Amino acid sequence: MLQKAINLLKKHFGYHSFKTGQDQIIGSILQGRDTVGIMPTGGGKSICYQIPALLGGTTLVISPLISLMKDQVDALRSIGIPAAFINSSLAYRELAEVLAQAGRGRYKIIYVAPERLESEQFADMVKELGITLLAVDEAHCVSQWGHDFRPAYLSISPFVKKLNRRPVVAAFTATATSEVTRDIVNQLALDSPNVYITGFDRANLFFAVVNGENKRDFVGRYLAENRDKPGIIYVATRKEVDQLHAYLLQKGFAAGKYHAGMTAPERELSQERFIYDDIRVMAATNAFGMGIDKSNVRYVIHYHMPKNMEAYYQEAGRAGRDDEPAECILLFSPQDVQIQRFLIESSIPAPERRDSEYKKLQLMVDYCHTSRCLRGEILQYFGQADAPENCANCSNCNNDGESVDITVEAQKILSCVWRMREQFGVTMIASVLKGSKNKKVLQYGFDKLSSYGLLRDYPEKEIQHLIKVLIAEGYLGLTEGQYPVARLLPGAALVLKGEQKVFHQMRVKKRQETVDQSLFDRLRRLRREIAQREQVPPYIIFPDSTLREMCERLPASPYALLS
Ligand code: ADP
Repeated sequence: MLQKAINLLKKHFGYHSFKTGQDQIIGSILQGRDTVGIMPTGGGKSICYQIPALLGGTTLVISPLISLMKDQVDALRSIGIPAAFINSSLAYRELAEVLAQAGRGRYKIIYVAPERLESEQFADMVKELGITLLAVDEAHCVSQWGHDFRPAYLSISPFVKKLNRRPVVAAFTATATSEVTRDIVNQLALDSPNVYITGFDRANLFFAVVNGENKRDFVGRYLAENRDKPGIIYVATRKEVDQLHAYLLQKGFAAGKYHAGMTAPERELSQERFIYDDIRVMAATNAFGMGIDKSNVRYVIHYHMPKNMEAYYQEAGRAGRDDEPAECILLFSPQDVQIQRFLIESSIPAPERRDSEYKKLQLMVDYCHTSRCLRGEILQYFGQADAPENCANCSNCNNDGESVDITVEAQKILSCVWRMREQFGVTMIASVLKGSKNKKVLQYGFDKLSSYGLLRDYPEKEIQHLIKVLIAEGYLGLTEGQYPVARLLPGAALVLKGEQKVFHQMRVKKRQETVDQSLFDRLRRLRREIAQREQVPPYIIFPDSTLREMCERLPASPYALLS
């Protein structure tokens, strides 16, 4: 059976071997066992149900991603797999046509929105179709503990009971906590399922945390260096998406935006333009991207820290689904923690759930401050036993020469805060350390302090930056309110006494490009032209990895190209 699966993998998808876990999951489904597949984003879940679908009767795929169904179906058709979708975007006549064709056994795979399962009429019709596999995509949506609870998912199990013959049920998700897994098994009423959790590592992703930098400046610089690469910047609120988007346009970047405050057609257009590489960088809230099958996203920047590691890894994991190098950068500032605390307070009434969210938040904050291997921290969070200590592909492991000892500067800053009696904000502290003669400094008599002008050799902006680093590192805390004031935190005493050194990591290093970039760009432009002509997204023509291979191997004949 598995040999047949490999043949189909080659024939329809053009891949030569399975990714980790795919063969086990496919094997389990083909043996008629209910199956849970937990794989990271980009792990290759779709093929786990698409290949069994080719070997059975009709497969019904429950997916929450209505906006993507058409693309998924188009992609399947383009590789010779008859497929259709049923959701609210179909007009009545189209729906009737799909159902009639389905009745004749025309389709191997039919995607449906979960809401559809609530209709008696639909269940009656489906009874006639001889469904052999029911695949539940994004299965964590069935769990109230998960981050995307979708009530209609609760109708899946009653729906399965109504069918004449129970199909094999397979559930897929990238969310790995044990609570969610338990919920999936229970709520979907799976019958002693095989549960496969594949390794969570995404070796091609470079992880970085950037602390205490001006976020806008960082993004401006990063995009200037990565202008043509497709990327996503996740921003916490709609308002800030709008602001960042305006800034990026003003800087001349091919930027788009996406958030729930836009109309459905606006969002669709924006998404479409991003998928077709028209928009290069997308500023978006977390409403964007669930299941976006754009394999060549080269970076995901988090402009604010997300609420927990599940959300972070899922969003960051949208980078590099083609297995080519990609970067996941989290821009941290202490205010991010305040935003998340506020969101927890205002959106979660149940105390025990609130506690659970606070715990997850704290682990996310720890990730932003750790000097250990970031990949190791992530994998440990997801319970992977063999998490590395040094992955050589994250900002903590690769910071050679970039980590600077700023202990002396830190001592000067902390003692200045002390002498100013912990009553002032970042700007004023920096002015004093700079030795500024501005009116307020003189008015308070700060020019008489022994700290006055201690950092006069540094630009004032740089001093402000160093103060923010100390805040990010937890030596200083900011009070809440409109005019936050810096206060010393317990760790500051150790630094002042010389018992603890302070290091600051400089910004993310640029990755070495190995292929001829201008050739790559020309091929990419050509791919876009072909894609526009064929009216499909560019990655359907060729993934980035293929273009890169062309640049490396320089095939000179059609035969060399095909081989
Ligand atoms: P997920 O749904 O788990 O996020 P997808 O099913 O979208 O992941 O697959 C991610 C990417 O990996 C897609 O571009 C897909 O074509 C590719 N892929 C899947 N299986 C394989 C395989 N066996 N070999 C190489 N690439 C694969």
